[in-house]
Amino acid sequence: MCGIIGAVAQRDITEILIEGLRRLEYRGYDSAGLTIIDDKGEFQRIRRVGKVYELSSATECKSLHGIIGIAHTRWATHGEPTEYNAHPHLSNYIAIAHNGIIENAESLRQQLIAKNYHFTSETDSEVIAHMVHDKCQQSTTLVKAVIKVLTLLQGTYGTVIIDRRQPDIIVAVRSGSPLVIGLGIGENFIASDPLALLPVTHRFIYLEEGDIAEISSRKVTIFNKQGIPVIRNTIETTLHYDAGDKGEYRHYMQKEIYQQPTAIKNTLEKRIKHEHVELSELGHEAEQLLKRVEHIQIVACGTSYNAGLVSRYWFESLIGLSCDVEIASEFRYRKPVVRKNSLFISLSQSGETADTLAALRISKNIGYLGSLAICNVSSSSLIRESDLSIITKAGVEIGVASTKAFTTQLTVLLLLVAKFSQLNNRPVSIEYEIVQALQKLPNRIEHLLSFGNVIENLAKEFSEKNHALFLGRGSHYPIAMEGALKLKEISYIHAEAYAAGELKHGPIALIDSNMPVIVIAPNNKLIEKLKSNIEEIRARGGLLYIFTDKNNEFINSDSMKIIHLPYIETLTSPIFYTIPLQLLSYYVALIKGTDVDQPRNLAKSVTVE
Ligand code: GLU
Repeated sequence: MCGIIGAVAQRDITEILIEGLRRLEYRGYDSAGLTIIDDKGEFQRIRRVGKVYELSSATECKSLHGIIGIAHTRWATHGEPTEYNAHPHLSNYIAIAHNGIIENAESLRQQLIAKNYHFTSETDSEVIAHMVHDKCQQSTTLVKAVIKVLTLLQGTYGTVIIDRRQPDIIVAVRSGSPLVIGLGIGENFIASDPLALLPVTHRFIYLEEGDIAEISSRKVTIFNKQGIPVIRNTIETTLHYDAGDKGEYRHYMQKEIYQQPTAIKNTLEKRIKHEHVELSELGHEAEQLLKRVEHIQIVACGTSYNAGLVSRYWFESLIGLSCDVEIASEFRYRKPVVRKNSLFISLSQSGETADTLAALRISKNIGYLGSLAICNVSSSSLIRESDLSIITKAGVEIGVASTKAFTTQLTVLLLLVAKFSQLNNRPVSIEYEIVQALQKLPNRIEHLLSFGNVIENLAKEFSEKNHALFLGRGSHYPIAMEGALKLKEISYIHAEAYAAGELKHGPIALIDSNMPVIVIAPNNKLIEKLKSNIEEIRARGGLLYIFTDKNNEFINSDSMKIIHLPYIETLTSPIFYTIPLQLLSYYVALIKGTDVDQPRNLAKSVTVE
């Protein structure tokens, strides 16, 4: 994870680095640091534990000035979040910042110690600094030294390197962790995400896997792994950074929950015409490919994985298209047997999730018809590397716990089901009903959000709990999973989700009057089955919270709280029932006083495996 930024210019770059780090903070926030080469050609390094503002206050106290520098916000993989583990790391005249994991760091460390290198951190990254220094002694340029080092590293890295003997060049390498070059006039930049560089440029070059770049203020040269110069396209972006303002909200997560009606409306916009789904971004040729699809393999992580699980119910029950869903970190390390005419679908908010990207790359050589990415960031690696893509139009999501990205992923997946239905001449009523339900959804959610205070009151009862169970059936079982994940992520309450019918096979042993059990109980054909499961819990003294439809006959009692939700169409009910669970975890976290937008140990974009 982590965020990297580097700048080489003809003006002071300190504030550019700090502002870049602020914008990259979603990628990691346990510590941050920067190193610049000052006017005397010396390194000035400042590192701080905690958020970027700790670092920015520290830099304000020292009057730093330099025209070249690198900076990093860390998400620790090796070594605690301390000042001495924070990046950049130094080795004599070399400074580096690294995103990723060096898997053979321990053996490299031993070799470097044998050469008298002295380590000052517990990180895997520090080996890179010493190795570059070591190889510099046998190389004529920094790039040549770095190329030699790369042949010895195992793992993933997005790394930036400066050499104070050559204070006009940044070398950047990309393998498994994203990096983008920002082109200015008489100044150039490098960062993990273009968002970090929007204050200084809108022209970008995305590095490809294995690329090595030599960046000076006037020139950018890119080499492939073998050291041969290569040309990469320059793109002009229309991206803008609109995340700065929380508006009337206390947290980004709260703002993003309340933005969902608009986010869904935006995701539907221009994709439904005259009651028909049109996914014109897929292009005409894609239709031929989609017509051949007989099976879908979805791969994702975390919240996106839960979205994939919901869609399996839709693909299979609505249009009879078989669908498997798998966690990317598992998919990438097994040998999947690919069914005939399968489409590979990846889901990710950021499009930089390391495991999902690795799974996509593997999918290319094992016989899938093609790949389709559903993602919120149009400039992401996932989109660039997939054959087809559909963008969720959630807008920038800053809160680490995903909310609007999830519900817009589900919206896109439902549109895709309708598209398949249309292309395969399924009964027109399927597409019609999907379109009707989706068009009504933004207003239905708007109305639902006005029940926020009901959930806020409920949250008080949860804040004292250490554990919670979430139950659902059918397409609402993954919604129970998502509810449990949200509660864990931001309130640190241990929560588990079960398919309601599974409870009696073990977890029911946990039930007592201290265990809150949240049941997602919409009015659908599984409601009677769910009622039996609820009775099993009541019989054992469990404390039930039932999220349900007005028409279901549940009776409030001391041990059973009923939360009545407004009417929702069955097709979009999983999206709808997600909202109160998001609010519940938000309000519980608020009472517990946790860091809602940047919960401990988590980062927004998981770019390490
Ligand atoms: N593995 C490195 C560390 O633990 C880099 C982690 C990151 O990507 O932030 O310092």
